Amino acid sequence: MQTDLCIFDSHTHYTDAAFDPDRDALLRSFPEKGVTGCMVCGTDLATSADCVSLAAQYPELLIAAVGVHPECPAPPEGYLQELERLAAMDAVHAIGEIGLDYHYEGYDKEQQARILREQLVLAKRLDLPVILHCRDATGDMLAILREFAPLSGVMHCFPGSAETAKEVLSMGLYIGFTGVITFKNARKPLEALRSIPADRLLIETDCPYMAPVPYRGKRCDSTMLTETAAVMARKKGMTTAEICRITAENAARLFRAEHLLK
Ligand SMILES: [Zn+2]
Repeated sequence: MQTDLCIFDSHTHYTDAAFDPDRDALLRSFPEKGVTGCMVCGTDLATSADCVSLAAQYPELLIAAVGVHPECPAPPEGYLQELERLAAMDAVHAIGEIGLDYHYEGYDKEQQARILREQLVLAKRLDLPVILHCRDATGDMLAILREFAPLSGVMHCFPGSAETAKEVLSMGLYIGFTGVITFKNARKPLEALRSIPADRLLIETDCPYMAPVPYRGKRCDSTMLTETAAVMARKKGMTTAEICRITAENAARLFRAEHLLK
């Protein structure tokens, strides 16, 4: 592993139980492996609170996002006040992850749209960027985002086309890519990647999920981002170190986390 790299993982879930056996040892090993910053994302009220505590323990490495994910059960009444209370903590630099997900049967479109809109309103009022999750819901997602544009934030794990990327960028958002771009069937996101200016790109693991090739099926962590960065670098005609550097600078700018750049 090169140590002159500057890797900022813009989307992680280090509060996940998959990291219980060795979380501290793993996080402490990051600086020497070139990982200088990670965003830890909440998915409901409990994980959001966990993200805030974890990020507060590692102020030199982690920042947190608080929010309710569309796949989680509908949050209790009063959840917005709880998110706002958490968002006031120093460690919190974004609202997320929030969005729409129509992948599995049984979803409730209206409920997901309401919860997304409520959190977008909160993010605007608190002047925090948003971390957006969208699966199988591009049309509805773009329609809701148009109501709120211009927006500060990122469309994470971008699965879309170059055309969708263009509209997402025009609303002021950054676009994040996971290890999915290292998979064999990644033609569409790779095409979109080509059209996205380097200063609007982020890289992310979404760990513990989505380990890039050649680690597929293993527990993912931020050190594996070099594989994703290498694929991105080839597409953009840059070196892996350059892609790591520019995406780290982008993340630090978007999340107001310049203190995590080395
Ligand atoms: Zn995620």
